[in-house]
Amino acid sequence: MFEDIDRILINEGAIATRLAEIAQKITQDYTGRDFIVLSLLNGSLIFVADLLRLVPLPLRLVSLRVSSYTGTGSSGEVTIAKDRLTGLDGRDVLIVDDILDSGRTLHRVVGHLRENTGAASVKTCVLLDKNVQRAVPFNADYTGFQIPDAFVVGYGLDYNERYRNLPFIAVLKSDAISRYSH
Ligand code: 5GP
Ligand code: MG
Repeated sequence: MFEDIDRILINEGAIATRLAEIAQKITQDYTGRDFIVLSLLNGSLIFVADLLRLVPLPLRLVSLRVSSYTGTGSSGEVTIAKDRLTGLDGRDVLIVDDILDSGRTLHRVVGHLRENTGAASVKTCVLLDKNVQRAVPFNADYTGFQIPDAFVVGYGLDYNERYRNLPFIAVLKSDAISRYSH
């Protein structure tokens, strides 16, 4: 797997340091609140697992499967599986996702929660914020790292479901992109 890496953008040490900083802010902001974390799957799986173990609050964790990407490009359509979105009424919800790119996913999920769940507040936390022109305007409340406009994998982020288990954020070699294109 490691031979498929072109370059590492963010290494394990940098991720751990930044997660501790974000976790501290989240802990301060949500102390004493009825706090629910909504993890968008599969991309945020590893991020949310590491992050929440640094947040010593009696939070609840729910997850939601959302998809918009196929291969290395955004399809433009965001699908939400609506099964797990009960019980948010009156609660402070923090949505956690892997990466903010076109903005469509978080814009859609935040809109859906505000319109349909009665959540007291809805905020967002992303590991990565890609430096691109958004399709819809969106800023996250908590951001790990700004990255350049490149397709990245690792630490939860996939290429056609592969490479999520890389412990760092990296760019793939083009031959790996062709090999796993379907
Ligand atoms: P958006 O809806 O903001 O365009 O994209 C958000 C979703 O697209 C992310 O949750 C992620 O699944 C996917 N995505 C966007 N950029 C990348 C990337 O560089 N690498 C990977 N693996 N997924 C990405
Ligand atoms: Mg995703």
